[in-house]
Formats: sequence, structure tokens, C-alpha cells
Amino acid sequence: MTFKELGLNKDILKAIDEQGYTKPTPIQEQAIPIVLEKHDILAAAQTGTGKTAAFTLPLLNTLSKKKIVSKEKHYVKALILTPTRELASQVAQNIESYSKYLNLKTAVIFGGVGINPQKAILRKGVDIVIATPGRLLDLVGQKCIDLSRVEYFVLDEADRMLDMGFIHDMKRIIAIIPKHRQTLLFSATFSDEIKKLSHSLLNNAKTVEVAKRNTSSTQVSQIVHYVNKDTKKHLLSHLINEGNWNQVLVFTRTKHGANKLAEYLNKQNITAAAIHGNKSQGARTKALSNFKSKDIRVLVATDIAARGIDIALLPHVVNFELPNVPEDYVHRIGRTGRAGNEGVAMSLVCSDEYFFLTDIEKLINKSIEVVAVDGFTLPKLAKPNIQKKTNERSNNRVKNKPSNDSNSRSRSRTNSSPEKNKIDGKNKVNIKFPDKKRVSKKDESKSLITKWENEIKKQKDNEAKNPRNPRNRRITSAAKAK
Ligand code: AMP
Repeated sequence: MTFKELGLNKDILKAIDEQGYTKPTPIQEQAIPIVLEKHDILAAAQTGTGKTAAFTLPLLNTLSKKKIVSKEKHYVKALILTPTRELASQVAQNIESYSKYLNLKTAVIFGGVGINPQKAILRKGVDIVIATPGRLLDLVGQKCIDLSRVEYFVLDEADRMLDMGFIHDMKRIIAIIPKHRQTLLFSATFSDEIKKLSHSLLNNAKTVEVAKRNTSSTQVSQIVHYVNKDTKKHLLSHLINEGNWNQVLVFTRTKHGANKLAEYLNKQNITAAAIHGNKSQGARTKALSNFKSKDIRVLVATDIAARGIDIALLPHVVNFELPNVPEDYVHRIGRTGRAGNEGVAMSLVCSDEYFFLTDIEKLINKSIEVVAVDGFTLPKLAKPNIQKKTNERSNNRVKNKPSNDSNSRSRSRTNSSPEKNKIDGKNKVNIKFPDKKRVSKKDESKSLITKWENEIKKQKDNEAKNPRNPRNRRITSAAKAK
């Protein structure tokens, strides 16, 4: 199958040829015809498979057929929502290159940077908007963007959108855009919540599932090193030096951990920068571009910041700490082994992370090969006390959720009850958290989706009963005629 056979026009074919794409990837082969036929789509494709082109190419093809007579005719026809700034700018860059021979205007909108340049672009009129939810709603509130004529709506990495607690913002955006539209829902992993969400958003959608659910890329060799927590940083710098790695993306669980590790590596003469939600957008962009141009060897990132990082031929990804949400592992290692290239993903695992590893292996349905490094690694991991770990894991799942990273707007709760916060003799503050039930973002999303589904069902029932609804009137008069 060629791109031409998929029915894309010559201007798009020319642009993708310049990108060096010779043939469509499996997700593109399946999704492009469906989108061109104007169907809604629910697509699950593992990250790095070419999913961005799978939805942008047919959209550009359809939009380019609409005649743009004057400046005023550039109004927002397609809205693409992404969970992170990095992913938004990545998608925008792809659209810029695929549409270079088309008369279409694109705007990318996200927070953390000045709003005025975005307003100025919108004022001139744009056809396609790629946005993160928070800034988009800001601009809607300030009446700087009109979404009332959106015909195509794309939710990219919808699973992450739910994980990050964007359900409320998504709901508000969906309420603004027209009901009659084509909706494309893309998700790197395909959870049951996503399926549920799709029922409320999509109409007669076709489902495309290229990779098996929650599988990791076969192009990525995955290995694990068992190591003591304190030895991790030494092992990492050893691996980088011994392997002469020039471009390695390293994941930590916390922003503080990312800063500390980047600092350590720089002291070892391994050039590194950290990227996470506490860094300004300017610092994040600079770190990313230095990493892409290989001016620095290591980029240390937290999960959210790394979403959307697309580096052709990135050879190495290291999990300095395993993620406590197993799906994040799949996303992380998907940064390497992209578009048919091979990559290696290494995880430095200490006994505290024993259960994170078993959760991950359960999700990807395979055991990850354990590799020893003389002088650094342990022969095996000690299994921690189950009861203790279970509690810790459930706490961590809430505590370490990407709560205040990037665009997420949730706040961490602390207990200020004087009874609970006792100061001991050495002036140490022992903060005990209340036993109050904490609700994770994922659970919150789940219950909201159910509520939302019920609302939609109620609305449909009411519409069906309403005698003023012209469709019902037609039925009533037809019944009378009988
Ligand atoms: P994505 O899954 O959209 O993040 O894409 C991953 C990478 O694959 C990006 O660097 C794209 O430029 C690249 N890519 C997308 N489609 C193709 C294709 N048909 N052939 C080669 N590379 C591609």
C-alpha cells in the first residue's frame, strides 16, 4: 500500500515524500481511509507508530478541499486537543510540514508562554487549532477564539488526558463545539475508561487497534538492571561512559529527582539538563532543542514533560526509577524504537520498586530480561513485605500522580490539623496524613464519565419525549395518519 493509494492529494504526497516517508505505517493504512470517509474513529496505537500522521493527513486532505476565498474564511474548522505542551507543539510541527503546500493556517495554543502572540495569530484567522485544554479555555473565556464552527475534533492521547484530570476541561470544551462533527479519538494505550468515554463522544465509530492492548513496541529491546538505590546514579554514568551514549532520555519519578540527577551527571562531565513542570516553558524548549541537536547528552525528564518528545533515532531510554503507573512505562519506552528504528530501554530497579516491576510485566504480558553489570548490579531483588508495599503502592499512586506537573491543575492536599502535625523534641515536623479516603484523578474521571453518560442518556430521552421536537411531530402525524 502506498500513500497515493490511500487517496491523499498530490500536495500532501509531495510534503510527506520530503519527510522521507516511503510507505504508510499500519495505523496510517487503517485509519486514513476511515477518516477520509468521514467516520468517527476510536484508534489505539502504541506510541511511535506514526499515529499523528494517521489523523492529520486525512484531516488536511479534507480541509484542503474547502475553498478559502478570503481572509475571513479562515475560521477554526479543526480542533486538536493534546494533554501536554510538548505534544501540542510536536503535532503542530508535523502539521506545518505536511501542509506546507496547502493554503491552511494553523495555531498552536498552550500555557506557560505569553498569551498575546497566540491572540494575534487567532485574530488573523486559522483553520486548525492544536491546543492544551487550560489555555484554550482561557482564550474561549476572553472571546478570542470561536469554536462554534468546528467540524473536526481530535482527542490525542486521550488516556493521558484522563490521567491528568482534564475531564472537566474536556467536558467544557465539548459543550462549546458543535454536536455535528467528526470526532477522532486517539489513545496510546486503550483502557476501559477510554472505551467508555468513546461511547459518549463518538457516533457509529470505527475502531482501529493496531497493537495489542497495552503492549510495548517490539522495536524496543527492554532490559532490567537490579541495583541498590544508592548505586543507581553511579551505574547510570558508568553505562553512559562505557557505551559512549550521546543521546539518552532518562526518566525520574519526581521533579526534584530530575534536577538532582542532572546536577550529578554534569559534575561527572556528562552534559545533562532536566525537563519538568516546574521549569519555565522557555527552559523546557531550550533543554529539548539542545538535546535534539546533541549539544547535551542526557535529558532527565518526568513523565508528563516527556510526553510528545519525538526524536528521530533516539537510541536509549533509561528508567532511573520505574513509574508507579504501569501504563507510563509503555509511554516512556515508546520514546525510542520509533517509526521502525530500533531502541533500547533500560530500567534501574531497586527492591523498593519490586512491585512496580511486577505490575509492568503483568501489563506488557512478558518478563523483562535481567542483565548484570559487574561491580554495580545485584544478583536478585529482595521481595519487600507485601502488606507494607501494598499500602505504599496505593499511597504512591495518589501521591505521585502527575498532579501539579505541566498543565495539570490539581493541588496537593496537606493536613493542617494541629493534632495531627506534632512537633517533636528535635523540632522535626511529623506530618501525619488523615485517614480520609483520597480519590485519584483516574477514579474521579471514571465516575465523571459515568455521570456524563447518564446526563447524555437523559438528554436523549427528553428529546425523544419532547412534542416540540420536529422529529417527534413527524412520527405523531404519521401515527395519526394511520
Ligand atoms: P508518532 O507516533 O506520530 O509520534 O510518530 C513517530 C515518528 O514516526 C515521527 O518521527 C514521525 O515523523 C515518523 N513517521 C510517521 N509516519 C511515518 C512513515 N509513514 N514513515 C516513516 N516515518 C514516519
